[in-house]
Amino acid sequence: MNFKYDVIVVGAGHAGCEAAAAAANMGSKTLLITMDMNKIAQMSCNPAVGGIAKGQIVREIDALGGQMGIVTDTTAIQFRMLNKSKGPAMWSPRAQSDRAKFILKWRKIAENTDNLFIWQDAVTSLVIENKNVTGVKTELGVVFSAKSVILTNGTFLNGLIHVGKTQLKGGRVSEPASFGITEQLIEFGFTTDRMKTGTPVRIDGRSVDFEKMEEQKGDDDFHKFSYLDFKPRTLQQLSCWICHTNEEVHDTLRDGLADSPLYNGQIKSIGPRYCPSIETKIITFEDKISHQLFLEPEGENTQEYYLNGFSSSLPLHIQIEALQKVPAFRNIHIYRPGYAIEYDFFDPTQLKHTMETKLIKNLFFAGQINGTTGYEEAAGQGLIAGINAHINVHGGDEFILRRDEAYIGVLIDDLVTKGVDEPYRMFTSRAEYRILLRQDDADMRLTEKAYNIGLAKKERIVLLNEKKEEINRIIEFAADYSLKPEYINDTLASFGTSPLKQKIKLKDVITRPQITIENIAEHIPAFKSELDQIPNRREEIIEAAEIAIKYDGYIKREKLIADKISRLENIRIKGKFDYENISSLSIEARQKLSKIDPETIAQASRIPGVSPNDISILLVLLGR
Ligand SMILES: Cc1cc2nc3c(=O)[nH]c(=O)nc-3n(C[C@H](O)[C@H](O)[C@H](O)COP(=O)(O)OP(=O)(O)OC[C@H]3O[C@@H](n4cnc5c(N)ncnc54)[C@H](O)[C@@H]3O)c2cc1C
Repeated sequence: MNFKYDVIVVGAGHAGCEAAAAAANMGSKTLLITMDMNKIAQMSCNPAVGGIAKGQIVREIDALGGQMGIVTDTTAIQFRMLNKSKGPAMWSPRAQSDRAKFILKWRKIAENTDNLFIWQDAVTSLVIENKNVTGVKTELGVVFSAKSVILTNGTFLNGLIHVGKTQLKGGRVSEPASFGITEQLIEFGFTTDRMKTGTPVRIDGRSVDFEKMEEQKGDDDFHKFSYLDFKPRTLQQLSCWICHTNEEVHDTLRDGLADSPLYNGQIKSIGPRYCPSIETKIITFEDKISHQLFLEPEGENTQEYYLNGFSSSLPLHIQIEALQKVPAFRNIHIYRPGYAIEYDFFDPTQLKHTMETKLIKNLFFAGQINGTTGYEEAAGQGLIAGINAHINVHGGDEFILRRDEAYIGVLIDDLVTKGVDEPYRMFTSRAEYRILLRQDDADMRLTEKAYNIGLAKKERIVLLNEKKEEINRIIEFAADYSLKPEYINDTLASFGTSPLKQKIKLKDVITRPQITIENIAEHIPAFKSELDQIPNRREEIIEAAEIAIKYDGYIKREKLIADKISRLENIRIKGKFDYENISSLSIEARQKLSKIDPETIAQASRIPGVSPNDISILLVLLGR
């Protein structure tokens, strides 16, 4: 057996799997070491992928040649496009996945990817020589060597689980924690700290009174995560169920607060603001008499349900007694309680945009250990780390995504430039160019880039070029085709929009909110026959063309702004200044610039505490 590899990935979670598959698919001999092969890509928390802004990240991972979109589409038991009532920049795909099948699908991919090998063991330390990582050592006493190592340990580094006063060492319930790596890296000068997250009970569906809940079905349309052309969601589609807590529930929870690890000082680390535990909700929003709960199915062939909105680390009996006060859960049986977990993370300003650490060459960090929370955020980082680890070994230009190219670009730039003071979750509000980063056009932005570095395969480029041709054909037709008032006004009236006074182009009519390409085509045979020539993915192509026509003005304006800023992205300043000795800069700016040592002026301008005045001083010093 071989003990020498190009790339070693430690941990087969959402970050690790994407990193390993990317490096191997690009040609690196890759070893994926993980504690339990039966838990590859385990979803530690809710069995769902995507959601606000997270859905866009999964689309980007797919467009780049990653796997998460494919795995989710083939294991989804419900799909919904969130925010459809808002503009397309806010549309976010989300799917409930069959948890067990999600693991099996990823394992099948990992076991059948050329150049990718798996080893089940726990890594206990790194082999580091002259500030360069050259391998890892494991619990079984094996030493593997590699030219690049990617750490994706998730919530496992010195993981500590809390249920009331009960504390267990673990990376997830019933899985061991990882020891030794944090301590070793601190000796090499890394800054580390602790974070916390939590998860709710898992419920036996046979004990739930669904009559007392509101059913929420999924969408049944063409939308999916992957841009590859296949039929998604072949599993039985299931519903989620909604109910609410009440004051009785809240009173019972309050009775347990004295033994809450969150409020009795047991847990000191900071948790995700946007995923609060139920006990935090009743304290923070004490005047709210009820909170919404979502019962999410865990899979096609299981009675297990996940109770979204009731994450808790209160004592077991309090969790059960409180739930019994919810009418639908009077006779509740749970498979296991909710719990909180504390774990180590590393300050991400210690990383470059390639996810390589600044302190140790060829050592990369990705996922939760960088202070993020969420499968999607982890997978996006893992993909970029895997690509750049391969490039470090085999040569090529660094692969970095800009903020106007991808949410993954926003994610990584925020991490390495601003750092984190709580678990970082992606939101559309974090992306200043979100109308350019829509879920419908990630392939347009990223697939060619990924194809040129050998990650995205030919099939994706063929599908992309076909889609581009079809979209352009529709847009050109709409731009050329004139509509006479006498010909179309009755139709416009039937759609509740104002009549034309003079001849105008079809595309100008399509920009009206009441008009869609599909509904107006029913009344323009020439346009309908144009659409009928679309060879495949008709709905996807028409949706993309419609967005391009309706939002043309916004998109162009945003592109102009992005191009202006990207000029600042090209002004490189790394290593050019001794910031501590530039007295005209503010003290805070000198400290932050010295610590982060930004690559470009644009990155410097995004560091918290560096003012526009500080940036002008640097530009003057640069003679610009
Ligand atoms: C209890 C809990 C609740 C959560 N709640 C939420 C939530 O509400 N919202 C949210 O967005 N996210 C939540 N998360 C976080 C979410 O699970 C993570 O963001 C995501 O799983 C991170 O992916 P990752 O790849 O970084 O790490 P993980 O998915 O944690 O995977 C790490 C992998 O590395 C392996 N590993 C670790 N150390 C070693 C080692 N030394 N040697 C070999 N293998 C190793 C582990 O076995 C595991 O397979 C929660 C996580 C937990 C544990």
